[in-house]
Amino acid sequence: MLKCLRCGRTYEGFKIMCECGGVLEYIGEREGSFKGLLREEFLDVRRYLSFLPLKEEFLPKLTLPITPILGRKIEGVNVFFKLEYLMPSGSFKDRGTYVTLAKLKEEGIREVTLDSSGNAALSLALFAKSEGIHAHIFIPKHTSEGKKRLLKLLEAEVHEVEGSRMEVHERARSFREGIYISHWYNPYFIEGTKTTAYEVYEQIGNVDYALVPTGSGTLFLGLYKGFKDLEALEGARIPRMIAVQGRGYESLCKRSKEKSRLAEGIAIPEPPRREQMLKALKESNGACVSVGDEEIAEAIKELISMGLLVEPTSATAYAAFKFLLEEGYFEKGTKVLIPLTGSGLKSV
Ligand SMILES: [Zn+2]
Repeated sequence: MLKCLRCGRTYEGFKIMCECGGVLEYIGEREGSFKGLLREEFLDVRRYLSFLPLKEEFLPKLTLPITPILGRKIEGVNVFFKLEYLMPSGSFKDRGTYVTLAKLKEEGIREVTLDSSGNAALSLALFAKSEGIHAHIFIPKHTSEGKKRLLKLLEAEVHEVEGSRMEVHERARSFREGIYISHWYNPYFIEGTKTTAYEVYEQIGNVDYALVPTGSGTLFLGLYKGFKDLEALEGARIPRMIAVQGRGYESLCKRSKEKSRLAEGIAIPEPPRREQMLKALKESNGACVSVGDEEIAEAIKELISMGLLVEPTSATAYAAFKFLLEEGYFEKGTKVLIPLTGSGLKSV
């Protein structure tokens, strides 16, 4: 069941937002223990089928691997990089796309529209192609040529829009040929990204902090939801959620005048799920940190020296980690999760 976070109205099936304009959240009920609910016969995302709002007969043809974790001790702090960029289309977005595709199949939807700065578009194009679903993708004209070429290779119908990310969003919303499935609103997308928390729990147990690049909040909210499930089922501890934003695009903390150019994937000044994110920050005793291009560029270099080739938006979380480390924010021995969200190979 989908429930509106503004007026409480409920819906069944595939829906992007409430009639009142509020955002929707999927509400599911399950009983048992986390371990008991695992589908241990699978070593991929299907391990978590009992936690996902989808029917097995409509599973996408492509599946998702469990992404590895790389641990490093940095000045006494245990840092765990989760290599989300090793997903099939090179970013964590595949998690949200996976559940969304299953719902589209269940509803018999064959033509869809999405706006994206790149990663969500590539993810949808890859999955849609394998299902024969026609995808209209709205992207900013300044999107990198590499990403554009990839989208065409994946047979998406690309609509380039001159203007800001918000203008791209408006154009896609008013387009009438495909069902609009923006991941900014789509409640099923978050059902997919929450599987990150389950994997982390199976791999390294409880963590103290999660530093997450946060624009529209799809990963931030998914992780938080997954951790809340683990708390309910296992008594696991919810980490302090640190939302990392690009300077000039802060939606959860004070907005800077200077504008980050590098954090393009999270350059979303007015995210529809802002209230929900603020609630998660408060409930988890978290914080919002913003980083600028100089710190991001430095973080990219350091990550490369560790063998981690990620795109600039992903490096924001490590840049924030370095900042907080210098501030003395973390105690020695603390466990810090840093999901590395997108591949550096796509920004070439
Ligand atoms: Zn409503």
